[in-house]
Amino acid sequence: MEQVVIIGSGCAGLTAALYTARANLNPLVVTGAMPGGLLTTTSIVENFPGFPDGIDGYELMTRMQQQAERFGARLRLMSMVEKVDLQKRPFEVTIDGEIVTTQTLIIATGAGHRHLDLESEVLLEKKGVTYCATCDGALPLFRNQPLVVVGGGDSACEEAQYLTRFGSQVYLVHRRDTLRASKIMAERTLANPKIKPVWDSVITEILDVKQNKVTGVRLKNLKTSQESELACAGVFVAVGHVPNTQLFKGVIEMDENGFIQPQHGSLTNVPGVFVAGDCADHVYRQAITAAGMGCSAAIDCERHLAALAQ
Ligand code: NAP
Repeated sequence: MEQVVIIGSGCAGLTAALYTARANLNPLVVTGAMPGGLLTTTSIVENFPGFPDGIDGYELMTRMQQQAERFGARLRLMSMVEKVDLQKRPFEVTIDGEIVTTQTLIIATGAGHRHLDLESEVLLEKKGVTYCATCDGALPLFRNQPLVVVGGGDSACEEAQYLTRFGSQVYLVHRRDTLRASKIMAERTLANPKIKPVWDSVITEILDVKQNKVTGVRLKNLKTSQESELACAGVFVAVGHVPNTQLFKGVIEMDENGFIQPQHGSLTNVPGVFVAGDCADHVYRQAITAAGMGCSAAIDCERHLAALAQ
């Protein structure tokens, strides 16, 4: 039986792994399909303390993993949790078909990309529609072509700036006329001559499903209701994230958007189950806050196990 299983390997999961490993709890980390989590797809991280020149997102997560492993954390790379039974004691976690029992569980499943919910978006995914500029921006089909980024947050600004290296022009389509992004990101984005904002607009259709590739977008201006078309070779969707909490629905308390609601610190409504990171945070959603939550969850978990042992 495991003492602690951690689901997720982003900043929250790996920090929880580091702390529980240093507490000699020999944690088992189920990494999910993207070891290191969403931050591995970011280019430069400029706001993680301790790196005055910034650090590549992938490198930061690799270092976190190495640090946790150094103290005995065991990672099941690319493994997925298919089911959890939190009514039983010990808990049962089904990992790639194998049932693992554990005294405690730390949920650090993060969040995935929100979609535009357009049929054409689904049909043209990987044919010009993507959710990650760092992963796909350098592909030949996007080189020297006009590109569209959707969204007005830090992610959209970061993606737009990154894509100026490859595209001939980057259009930033946002549904309002002010960016949600942090001031520094917004200013940098709007000052970039290769980025052209398209305000108050939403994409109603991605073209062209018939040609099986992206050739443009159909836009609607929300203020004037005017429709227009914009030619582009790629659509980079950066409209936020949804929590990866489906596994726990009906058992772990969450809000109407699926974010887990911790009670005191990292405690959930099921004793012995703790939560950390973006799956429980719709306010801050930073690498450093996720790491802090991972630390809290590990300490709460350690105290819970110590109390059980008494
Ligand atoms: P976000 O801050 O939630 O922004 C999502 C954006 O998408 C908003 O501008 C929103 O518009 C728009 N949007 C949402 N649903 C939409 C829809 N259906 N159609 C069109 N537009 C839609 O998400 P994020 O940019 O991914 O950032 C998430 C968190 O990570 C934030 O806390 C951010 O600060 C952080 N982050 C930080 C960095 C960095 O510091 N380097 C980089 C990336 C992300 P409205 O503005 O109208 O709501």
